[in-house]
Amino acid sequence: MAPESTNKNKDYNMEDFIELSAYEVKDLSCPRCGERAETINHLFRECPITVEVWSTLLLQNVLIDVNRDFEQWLTRVFEQLIPHNCRIFSCALWAIWEDRNLRIHNKKFSIGKKIGNFIINYIAELDGLENRKLVKIKEKMNWRRPSREFVKINFDRAFDGQNNFSASGIVARNDEGLIILSCSETHKEFASAFATEAIAFRKAVQMGMENTCPIVIIEGDSLAIIKKCNNKDQDKSMIGAYISDIQQMVNRSKHFVFKHIPRNANALAHKIAIEILKRKVEDYLEKKVLEYAKNQKLLEWVHEPD
Ligand SMILES: [Zn+2]
Repeated sequence: MAPESTNKNKDYNMEDFIELSAYEVKDLSCPRCGERAETINHLFRECPITVEVWSTLLLQNVLIDVNRDFEQWLTRVFEQLIPHNCRIFSCALWAIWEDRNLRIHNKKFSIGKKIGNFIINYIAELDGLENRKLVKIKEKMNWRRPSREFVKINFDRAFDGQNNFSASGIVARNDEGLIILSCSETHKEFASAFATEAIAFRKAVQMGMENTCPIVIIEGDSLAIIKKCNNKDQDKSMIGAYISDIQQMVNRSKHFVFKHIPRNANALAHKIAIEILKRKVEDYLEKKVLEYAKNQKLLEWVHEPD
């Protein structure tokens, strides 16, 4: 159905919106500015209120191609904008159409800046919701047992900067989630938390070398260390010597996989390191963890996927 040219106050629905793109309605003046006939081009590209919306959104560039027909214009804009701006652009098309209908139905008037700010806030709210969702997904990531015939070793460290004292916590588990070995070490006079992280990692690789399993997964929550060890080039940083030790061990025989995981998935190794920092007593235990880490072990056990 084509919009009736004589009825200025006619109500429009979505079908009319589609019709507007097919029919150039030349004798119906714009309900927003009243200056020009309301065509699809006027509504989304020419109307002064719309121009102000694009300018508030810092998307004035979408108005450069004014001579293209509406469909070509949309295609071109979507091709040229980065994904985040495509999102703002789509939201703006909807908001402009909504504003137009509110004027007709409810006699509600908004200036372009207000519509633009509404869009900015709306997108910010959506982004916030998505970020919260991502954080929730991340929070849910607990330790997972390895596949059959793999062994998984988690490592972490705790660092007491004031006393230059640090501790490593390392725990190896099999495909049933059972602890094969747990180990803790203390270190004095290391310059940085970063170095102690590298030492804990090296110890984890040593434990992996001693294990009979052909494939060893080493997991830690330090992204920088994991990245360095996955990189085959020579590391020239202050912890280069440790990284070089690790790379040499790894090149020998076994297949090692180095994985970065969130802190939640590394909780048992973290707990061991923190406790050893307090107690300053090293341990090397087969098939169990120390008393203090038992609760953490149980927690991880409960959260494991089937
Ligand atoms: Zn207008």
